[in-house]
Amino acid sequence: MDCVFCAIINGEIPSSKVYEDDTIVAFKDLSPQAPVHILVIPKQHIKWGYDVTPENSAVVAHIFETIPKIAKEQGLDNGYRVVNNCGESAGQSVLHLHFHLLGGRDFTWPPG
Ligand code: 5GP
Ligand code: ZN
Repeated sequence: MDCVFCAIINGEIPSSKVYEDDTIVAFKDLSPQAPVHILVIPKQHIKWGYDVTPENSAVVAHIFETIPKIAKEQGLDNGYRVVNNCGESAGQSVLHLHFHLLGGRDFTWPPG
């Protein structure tokens, strides 16, 4: 399978990791859209949000338990935004489930 995030997990592609455990990894986005822009991903290859099921959702819960810890470590004491782009209309460009953790600036609502 040709997946850039699986290659990052395997160490075939270098990345700036900020967190890793048995089931998830977090690393800096190559093209940051905010002063802090981190991608948090499951090590298991899940294509996208449509494929989250009762069988694999524990890793998603774990991601959402870990995000506030990473946010605090990154100094995001004034809030942060988590984004999951799912599918073409949302602009998902890497087909391995990932959550953008963004912070260090103010964000508008609704998003563009
Ligand atoms: P998406 O558009 O699918 O929601 O987000 C994919 C993100 O992955 C983009 O923000 C893009 O900058 C990031 N990205 C793509 N390739 C790489 C890479 O090789 N390394 C890192 N660190 N980020 C990547
Ligand atoms: Zn993958």
